[in-house]
Amino acid sequence: MGFKKLLQRVRRKKKYPNRFLKFYHQNKKQLNQERRSSYLEKKKEGLCTRCKRKAVSGIVFCEYHQQKQQQYNKNAREK
Ligand SMILES: [Zn+2]
Repeated sequence: MGFKKLLQRVRRKKKYPNRFLKFYHQNKKQLNQERRSSYLEKKKEGLCTRCKRKAVSGIVFCEYHQQKQQQYNKNAREK
């Protein structure tokens, strides 16, 4: 196979159905890293990982999100 044809094949592989998916695939490594680092950053600073309010000490949620999480767990158990 010629080099040109190989190149064409590689190019075709990189086509995405839409530009959002393309953006996601090209940046997912970085996106995941950013998401993770902001989670750790908030945890370290004692802030809720879901909003930016102060977290209850010992957990990663503020009072509001702690209650939401407890409600969610309760619902999950009752099913
Ligand atoms: Zn919160």
